[in-house]
Amino acid sequence: MTVWVLGDQLDPSAAPLQSDDRVLMIEAHAFGDRLPYHPQKLALVFAAMRHFRDDLRERGYEVTYLQTETFGEGLDRYFDAAPGDDLVVMDPPSHGAGERLRGLVSARGGSLTLVENDLFLTTPADFDDWAGDADSYRQEHWYRHARRETGVLMDGDDPVGGEWNYDDQNRETPPEGWTPPEAPRFEPDETTREVIELVRERYPDAWGSPEPFVWPVTREAARQALSHFVEVRLPEFGPYQDAMVDGEWALCHSLLSAATNLGLLHPREAVEAVEEAYERGDAPLNSAEGFVRQVLGWREFVRHVYRRSMPELAEANQLDQTEPLPEAYWTGETDMNCLSEAVGHVRDRGYAHHIERLMVLSNFALVYGVDPAELDRWFHLGFVDAFHWVTTPNVVAMGSFATDVLSSKPYASSGNYVNKMSDYCSSCPYAVSKTTGENACPFNALYWDFLKENEARLRGTGRMGLMYSHVDRKDDEEWEAIRARADEIRRMGRAGTL
Ligand code: FAD
Ligand code: SF4
Repeated sequence: MTVWVLGDQLDPSAAPLQSDDRVLMIEAHAFGDRLPYHPQKLALVFAAMRHFRDDLRERGYEVTYLQTETFGEGLDRYFDAAPGDDLVVMDPPSHGAGERLRGLVSARGGSLTLVENDLFLTTPADFDDWAGDADSYRQEHWYRHARRETGVLMDGDDPVGGEWNYDDQNRETPPEGWTPPEAPRFEPDETTREVIELVRERYPDAWGSPEPFVWPVTREAARQALSHFVEVRLPEFGPYQDAMVDGEWALCHSLLSAATNLGLLHPREAVEAVEEAYERGDAPLNSAEGFVRQVLGWREFVRHVYRRSMPELAEANQLDQTEPLPEAYWTGETDMNCLSEAVGHVRDRGYAHHIERLMVLSNFALVYGVDPAELDRWFHLGFVDAFHWVTTPNVVAMGSFATDVLSSKPYASSGNYVNKMSDYCSSCPYAVSKTTGENACPFNALYWDFLKENEARLRGTGRMGLMYSHVDRKDDEEWEAIRARADEIRRMGRAGTL
């Protein structure tokens, strides 16, 4: 048996690596041609693979490392040298991937055994037992179940502190003049620099800036990133989890998603480190619970929802949204301060934190009417942590409300939300207090227009009553002005003049 280690399975403790010491890795470059992927995403995957290869060799594994265009080409070369070999691989979380790999291997006379992917905290069987034959799911219910099952932040049968969720203590905005602790930087070594060069030459059309490249590409660096987060950023992560600050790209977020999604860090390690910090009295409960909710709650949840909802999920579009993505998502050039900041963060680093993703980038696309599949593609190519199993449920279901498989209402808001949670509006040429007329904040007219347009679908759905009581108070004249402004914003979006 030979273990086939995929680029997002870079964990030396993974079960297959405990029983076999022969390893195959294929660095296939053509996948990066499918979309103009962010150069830091491509560099991150290839650099992490090469470092993992070196790490395994140091540990005594015999690693065949092939650089090719496609998996098919890599397997041709592999089976020429090792005809009829039996491969074993952990089942990749992206839809249909395991079966596709199996087909490629058997077409070349080998066999491929798919085993459970142990890079998650819960298994498909755990979720399926809990969910039964449901076809829509709510994170809060799953989260409580997962807390009970794992015992994380539990006091016997009860949640530590008496509440399951301290979400209401995750919504502070920092005082004026506050600056977050500096984010850790992991300077590229020679191997990573070589990869950055390769990416620069091989993918001239990649979207985004190749540098500064400061992501951890080894397990050791990922562990350091976790320690830094727990020691330095975690105490303020809780209160400022939903905040946005002009000029700050990371705030107190952990920046661990890319390392976790590549397998460099097991989510269990992150959850344990955070729980221990809370138990030592080094982090408040709203920070510890807030983090655990993201990893044990959301991350596991979206993985399973994706698994059970594909392939329909990727095509879902229950609101029939068809607008192309506004030009500003590509250029970052817009007077909208919030959007220009968020797009700039993605272009510069392949990263924006959760609230920028949800309440700026996907919220704006939602009320503007962007086709969810097009938004999904943009998120896929733009983010260092993007993988189909995690990006698609977040963008299509959570951000675009293209299906109600994981929430009963859309995450749609006017400029008020951005104004409440950030200091962006005070230096924006648009007026957040205005809905129509010259320089009115684009979010506002689009938001009301969105509610009106989708009334038949949304009015009766959970927790939308308050929104529609405001809709009902507007007269025809107001609606006419809102529609005119929303149309104008869409015209500006297409022309790149927002
Ligand atoms: P923190 O804020 O420090 O959170 C801690 C960890 O929780 C993260 O590292 C991540 O592993 C996990 N997490 C939190 N929320 C989610 C979630 N909704 N789904 C999955 N994991 C979560 N996450 C990705 O990993 N890849 C994506 O491509 C991705 N696309 C997103 C698109 C949209 C529209 C939205 C709303 C969210 C998306 N997320 C994605 C989830 C989340 O925004 C990122 O995981 C998070 O911002 C990563 O930054 P961080 O590591 O600093 O996270
Ligand atoms: Fe964004 Fe509107 Fe605020 Fe400007 S005024 S930063 S466009 S929410």
